[in-house]
Parts: sequence; structure tokens; C-alpha cells
Amino acid sequence: MAEISIPKTQTAALVPKQGGPVEFDDRYPVTMPKQDEILVKVLYTGVCQSDLHTKAGTATGADGKPITNIKLPHVGGHEGVGRIVAFGPNLSPTKDLQLGTLVGIRFASRVCHECEYCVSGREQHCTNSTNHLHHEDGSFQQYCVLDTKYLTTLPQDIEPTVVGPALCAGVTAYKAVVNANLKEGEWLTVIGAGGGLGHFAVQYGLALGAKVLGVDAGSGKQQFIESLGAKFLDFSKCKDLAQEVQKITGGGGTHAAVVTSGHPLAFRKLADMIRVGGSLSLVGIPPGDVCLDTPVATIVIKGLKIQGNLVGSLKETLEAVELVRNGKVKPHVQIRPFRDLPQVYDMLEKGDIPGRIVLEMP
Ligand SMILES: [Zn+2]
Ligand SMILES: [Zn+2]
Repeated sequence: MAEISIPKTQTAALVPKQGGPVEFDDRYPVTMPKQDEILVKVLYTGVCQSDLHTKAGTATGADGKPITNIKLPHVGGHEGVGRIVAFGPNLSPTKDLQLGTLVGIRFASRVCHECEYCVSGREQHCTNSTNHLHHEDGSFQQYCVLDTKYLTTLPQDIEPTVVGPALCAGVTAYKAVVNANLKEGEWLTVIGAGGGLGHFAVQYGLALGAKVLGVDAGSGKQQFIESLGAKFLDFSKCKDLAQEVQKITGGGGTHAAVVTSGHPLAFRKLADMIRVGGSLSLVGIPPGDVCLDTPVATIVIKGLKIQGNLVGSLKETLEAVELVRNGKVKPHVQIRPFRDLPQVYDMLEKGDIPGRIVLEMP
């Protein structure tokens, strides 16, 4: 590939102040790659619920308090797909990394490779990590710098329009479903099944041989979830959701439940819908200090397993991507222009998006 000319400035979606609107800046500087870095021209990017929460100032940390210590202006985006356009001063193209190579822009941007989490393949919990949400500019800009020591090199034959959402929503859902340890034919119940994370969890569950019950609301979501091959339950029409789930899944309830919604109401009475020895996987992070309302006695007597899932490692991401590449999982995406980001945030807030919206970058 011939030399690629790189402009000095670019268009980026900035959040100057948490709680304020997104503003497009057409003269935002392009950062050139330094030692061990590459520059990527972003082609497509998904829009994640955590981008919305970070913009709004409602993202919650492990202490249950809002995350406010972020780089400003904030440039979100961590479901990005792009092609390499420049190498840092100490790098030159290799067999695997060339100008034009397709790479992903994920949540984690850099890890230390040395802490106990990094050396045990759980580097998403690295204590010295940085990410594309709080520390570094993400894929809501035309050009993004990436660390080659922690690079998501994608399969080069993958469809770039659909793979972005697999890099955050997809791997998160994949991991939650894998952690549920389901045997073939067992029931997986997905709460929030029609959303970005949810529609991935439904498909990963089906791909792993589970029977899937998708819980969401409205006829649009019903049609969507049934089209994926799952059974649908409308929570807005249920007097007692746990009882309805038990009725459909029989034998005292579902073998596993995965909560992909971040709505506080999605965390009510979950243990009542799960059968003895079953598991509960939590992936959606509700704003504030929402708690599970499950009595300890229920957890002990039913022998339930409760697990949280924070995205996934690079290896798990590539496993989730492979299921997209081989067609077992089909991300449902709607492609919109980059400038539609403010409207996409409004839609995400209302919970009206079946699957994911992917923005096409100029
Ligand atoms: Zn995300
Ligand atoms: Zn580390």
C-alpha cells in the first residue's frame, strides 16, 4: 500500500463537561503515534451504554459511586474498527501488521502485562490499566492511536460493519454465557434480551446449545427476539416475572439467568426464577448503588452461584469475534452517520434500540 497522508486535524465527538451535550469538533488535532504505537483510521464504531453513562456522569465504579475522574474533553467509543495508517517511530510493517491491517478499538487501551491479573489471563482487571472511556480518546474520532503491545488484530476477512459491537457488548455477553456453564438443552434466561448485550447473549446461548428465554418489552422486541430463535416473555405484561419464568422453563426455574439490562428494576427477585444449583450472571451496571434483593437464605438453600462479568480478556474477545466471523452469531446492526450520535444517545436512553447502532465514520 502506498504512503497514506494524514491530516493534522479531524472530526471528533467531544463531551466538554460530564452531564452536558456532545459537540462535534472538525478541528480536533490528530495525535501521531509514539514509540510502540500505531495510528488507525476509524471506519465504524458501535455506541455502548457505558459511553452514554460516562457522558451523562452516571457511570458507576466498583465502590458504587459515580466515576467523575475522567479525561476532558471526553471522546468516547470503544467498539471501533479501523485500519492502520501509520506506525510509531520505532516500528515498521510486519507480516501481521501492515498499512491497511484491520484492527479493533476496545474498552481497554493499555495493560501492565505484569500484575497478577495480567499474568493469569484476566487483564481486564489489571490494576495499572488505562481505557478508552476514562483515560484515552476512543473511536468517536476519525483517527485513533493504539498500543501495539496490547492490540486487537481482527481476522482480516471479517465484515467491518458488524464486528465492532462484538468487541464490548459481544465479548461481555459471551463471557457471561460461558460462565453460566450450561449443558446442552438447559434453559438460559436473558433479561434485556433485545438490547445490544442481550441479543448477543441470546445468540451465544443458542450457539452453545442452550434453550433461550428472552425477557424484554414490546412487540418490536418480541419480533426481534423470536427471529433469533428464542422464546419471548414480555415483562411489562407479567404480574410476577419470576413465576412466569418458572412456568415456561419448568422444574423450578431457569438453569441460568444473565442480566444484560442496566435498569434498576431488572435486578428484582432474580433468585426466585433460578432453579436449584443454577447461576446468575450480572453484566449490566445500573447507575447508583442498586442492590440485589435476594435473601441470603435463598442463595444458600438453593445453592445458587452469583457471578459478575466485566467485559473479557483479549483472548476471550477474539473467541467472541470468531463466532461472528463463522456466522454462528450475527450482530444485528443499524448503520447511521457519525453525526447522528446525539440522537443515538437519546434512543439508548429510552431503550428503543433492537441490537446495536453502528456509526459510519467520515
Ligand atoms: Zn461498552
Ligand atoms: Zn496488569
